[in-house]
Amino acid sequence: MNQAIADQLDISVPLGEDYPEIRESVRRICQDFPGEYWRDLDERNAYPDAFVKALTEAGYLAVLIPEEYGGSGLPLRAASVILEEIHAAGCSAGACHAQMYTMGTLLRHGSEEQKRRFLPGIASGELRLQAFGITEPTTGSDTTQIKTRAELVKDPKGDYYVVNGQKVWTSRALYSDLMMLLVRTTPADQVTKKTEGLSVLLVDMREARGNGLEIRPIKAMVNHNTTEIFIDNLKVPVENRIGEAGKGFRYILDGMNAERIIAASEALGDARWFVKKAATYATERVVFGRPIGKNQGVQFPIARAHIETVAAEMMVRKATALFAAGRPCGEDANMAKLLATEAAWHAAEACLQTHGGFGFASEYDVERKWREVRVMQVAPVSTNLILAHVAEHTLSMPRSY
Ligand SMILES: Cc1cc2nc3c(=O)[nH]c(=O)nc-3n(C[C@H](O)[C@H](O)[C@H](O)COP(=O)(O)OP(=O)(O)OC[C@H]3O[C@@H](n4cnc5c(N)ncnc54)[C@H](O)[C@@H]3O)c2cc1C
Repeated sequence: MNQAIADQLDISVPLGEDYPEIRESVRRICQDFPGEYWRDLDERNAYPDAFVKALTEAGYLAVLIPEEYGGSGLPLRAASVILEEIHAAGCSAGACHAQMYTMGTLLRHGSEEQKRRFLPGIASGELRLQAFGITEPTTGSDTTQIKTRAELVKDPKGDYYVVNGQKVWTSRALYSDLMMLLVRTTPADQVTKKTEGLSVLLVDMREARGNGLEIRPIKAMVNHNTTEIFIDNLKVPVENRIGEAGKGFRYILDGMNAERIIAASEALGDARWFVKKAATYATERVVFGRPIGKNQGVQFPIARAHIETVAAEMMVRKATALFAAGRPCGEDANMAKLLATEAAWHAAEACLQTHGGFGFASEYDVERKWREVRVMQVAPVSTNLILAHVAEHTLSMPRSY
């Protein structure tokens, strides 16, 4: 038997509505944030402050932070459940989900001093760690080629990095106090492997803005509060580097598995929302003297999307269980993300088509959610890159990039 498969034999996956109290409580919170709330934010490109505050006060954004640092120390599955329920209720966690996975980089690779300095504030909501600066305009998916450069300056008063470069699509930067920033600390031509020489800095944006850091919003198809960031001789104290210098790519990869699982969980919630909305409308809307849902051309795409969602959910649960057990889960997290976001996209298409012209009217919320799930084919990782990963690492085909 393949060793990877043998290593998974002792892992079990819960079925059904696990964490029922959390699910119920999240649903209750979401009832206070109906479609009108999200539509209004969408029109104004505004940040859902009240929603993020409600989640923070309920402790849900701190579920992954260990109790000793002020969180509830629950496993990733609890975060998955929270995010899935938020999206199934028609809300969006896009404004605050990053805290759940970026915080993991600090938790796994930060020093004790850094954890004590930042985690309690993040847990209470006093400090927001919502920004994650990886993508750059000229390098895109080819992360190891990033150009943002941090040079170490020795100083008797305390060593620091001087950072220069540019990031793009850095979501939530205007609503975050801290940013996890990937930089190159050793030039690419001085390392033996291209994955070496990258480091992760935790930038305090409250001090940095106006002192070498400029944030400009990007107007986009979805209200994701996304920005571009210009970095010009920004000073970052060396004690804000997470882990060892040069090992940042590995730290980021570690966090990406959690990110993929979290994105997949949100997509599952979206898929459930679309399927329910479509099935309800198909049953109620009468044309040609009968409900449109009596036509198989209308009901089959909805049924198919439901089946895809249930199948994707199994994969998400598997990836989450492997993550919780500390087993390798890159392949499973990638596959879960691909399946769940495709299920959500197919559900969105079926829902929009079922609503006919009304699907395009903002008041039905379908077109907004449809735009939101479309993004997931590209971010946080594009579908092609997942397929390339599986082709190379699972199926041993030649590397394509
Ligand atoms: C709303 C939104 C929010 C985002 N938030 C963040 C954030 O908070 N932080 C952050 O760092 N980034 C963020 N991103 C960036 C996102 O992660 C990238 O857009 C994504 O990783 C793809 O990179 P790119 O846009 O540069 O596309 P490119 O890398 O230029 O790729 C363009 C297309 O070509 C395909 N492609 C490229 N290379 C290959 C290949 N070798 N084989 C096959 N196909 C290939 C890709 O799949 C893609 O479809 C966000 C993006 C969006 C749209």
